[in-house]
Amino acid sequence: MFAIHPAKPMPPTPSDPSRGVSRFPFTEHSATDPQARPLRVAVLGSTGSIGTSTLDVIESSAGRFQAWLLAAHRSVESLVAQAKRLKPAWVVVVDEQAAAQLGPGSLPPGTRLAVGADALEVLVQDPAADRIVSAIVGAAGLRSTWAAVEAGKTVALANKETLVMAGPLVMRLAARTGATILPVDSEHSAIHQALCSGRPEEVQRIVLTASGGPFRTRAAESFADITPAEALRHPTWSMGPKITVDSATMMNKALELIEARWLFGVPADKLTVMVHPQSIVHSLVEFIDGSVIAQLSPPDMRLPIQYALTYPTRTTGPARRLDFSQTMTLEFEPPDASRFPAVRLGHEAAARGGTAGAVLNAANEEAVAGFLAERLRFTDIADACAKVLDEHPFEAEPTLEEIRRLDAWARLEVTKWSVA
Ligand code: NAD
Ligand code: MG
Repeated sequence: MFAIHPAKPMPPTPSDPSRGVSRFPFTEHSATDPQARPLRVAVLGSTGSIGTSTLDVIESSAGRFQAWLLAAHRSVESLVAQAKRLKPAWVVVVDEQAAAQLGPGSLPPGTRLAVGADALEVLVQDPAADRIVSAIVGAAGLRSTWAAVEAGKTVALANKETLVMAGPLVMRLAARTGATILPVDSEHSAIHQALCSGRPEEVQRIVLTASGGPFRTRAAESFADITPAEALRHPTWSMGPKITVDSATMMNKALELIEARWLFGVPADKLTVMVHPQSIVHSLVEFIDGSVIAQLSPPDMRLPIQYALTYPTRTTGPARRLDFSQTMTLEFEPPDASRFPAVRLGHEAAARGGTAGAVLNAANEEAVAGFLAERLRFTDIADACAKVLDEHPFEAEPTLEEIRRLDAWARLEVTKWSVA
């Protein structure tokens, strides 16, 4: 069953005592009605690539959105600069040592400081937070995203790792609490938009597009020599380092296949990948009559971020536009499985479900860190992931605790790999 999160009728008045969390007030019209009070947005990972783009969307929103909370790991300097500009109610520094650098008077009047992952979990459940932008990188994003879903929030989800690790559990939790998860990942935002063109049972296939990264045309024999500096130069997108390396290995597409599997509730065999070097077509949905619906825009994350904040309405915004006065070339080709073995791992983990996504994700995070620290070769990333995925004690219906345990196990396995 596909879930495209249609506009939910929201009660006009607060409170759902069963959850202890106020449902006031993300009514649809309040996202776009200039008369309504601003929607209070919690930006988790505000100093990162998605975080700073989110602040750009908020600052361009003519008062429709207000930064209510900004959270980051340890980049205190940029967090303080952001707080001075946006004057949020809360700033959260997750790393305690980094927080100690904040002297009295560092934050603007009216902005309070909270420290640690526990504090962040509590604050994302605060009734004052209307929308949560989940943009922490990696498995570290799961806790706060889980807390937001548990509180029935509307979550703009950039942290794909949450669904890769625990998709079925997170989607079941959302169904129980009434939380809405809206994708920020550009491919999933495109799919979300395209799915509106038909009914779930009319969907034939979902095609995720991939830029192909910087090594799409590089000779396969030289892949083992790829350096971190080369992998960090992405041809079309400007992103944080982890996802940029994921893009170069195409592990990002593997993670996105798994993300789509759970977010849209679509069987893995209906998901496919096409390389599209221009990054203009962000994904496509083929319906049973042969129609293919796509979403196009320049590669600019401010658009899917804004879509997730304003859905189900649209507004003008800061994102770049296509220029229809110029010749535009759009190319598509199937991914080269021999040079990008990660894509197969994504198909496999999406089909297997259970603990496969969490293990693949953890192995990949550790391997990418090893590659960036020059302990592993580029080609070791997919090789290590394949081995760990193959050897892990698969569990079909894991609990969150089992997922966490296997996450730690997979990281340890990859650490051994780097030593060997
Ligand atoms: P980034 O590295 O640029 O930023 C990461 C942010 O997370 C920073 O603010 C950092 O302080 C924070 N963070 C890191 N570890 C943390 C921890 N333990 N606790 C709290 N905060 C922590 O990453 P990014 O590129 O913005 O990506 C963020 C997420 O969005 C990732 O899951 C990525 O896959 C996803 N995403 C990114 C893009 C993109 O264009 N950058 C596109 C699609 C999806
Ligand atoms: Mg993406």
